[in-house]
Amino acid sequence: MKFICIGRNYAAHAAELHQTAPSEPVFFLKPDSAITRCNRPFFLPDFSQEVHYETEIIVKINRLGKCISEKFAHNYYEEIGLGVDFTARDLQRKCIQQGEPWEIAKAFDGSAVVGGFLPKSRFEDVQNLSFYLLLNGEKVQEGNSRDMLFTIDQLIAHVSQFITLRTGDILFTGTPVGVGPVHINDHLQGFMEGEKLFDFKVK
Ligand code: ZN
Repeated sequence: MKFICIGRNYAAHAAELHQTAPSEPVFFLKPDSAITRCNRPFFLPDFSQEVHYETEIIVKINRLGKCISEKFAHNYYEEIGLGVDFTARDLQRKCIQQGEPWEIAKAFDGSAVVGGFLPKSRFEDVQNLSFYLLLNGEKVQEGNSRDMLFTIDQLIAHVSQFITLRTGDILFTGTPVGVGPVHINDHLQGFMEGEKLFDFKVK
């Protein structure tokens, strides 16, 4: 499996990174080795001094698809969850400045935290899901999928023009505003529509 991650899908987050909102979805990949499974600890890598959390709605692809039209994209996922796209912000800044690929900042081991999933049938509208992150008990990040610049279905349609989606692939749909650093012993808890979907510590 692979992780497909969307960059700058919330205008306010793009602004906090001093970047413009994209005119079409921007995405990058993480390999399967990036996974941190639900509620296992996240291990801070020693090559970065500034690892940020990015709390994101995640979507589990449930069938093979290529060149999926937006109209049919909803048939390609049944479960929606919450994850963290950990990012070595210092390395990412350097990569951007030098025009280099982002993998060292984004695709490192453990950087894709996959929390729990809920069936999308539980929700009236997948584009109206509220979620938030508690860092050591304090709410530091809050978002709603209605603020996405590109909907989940638009993201699936766009990405699948270029890359075949396979069963088990996971789409990270972008982070809202409020990203920030984590430190050893931090405690992260993620909630979507009031339900706790991850709970883990930074080691
Ligand atoms: Zn992200």
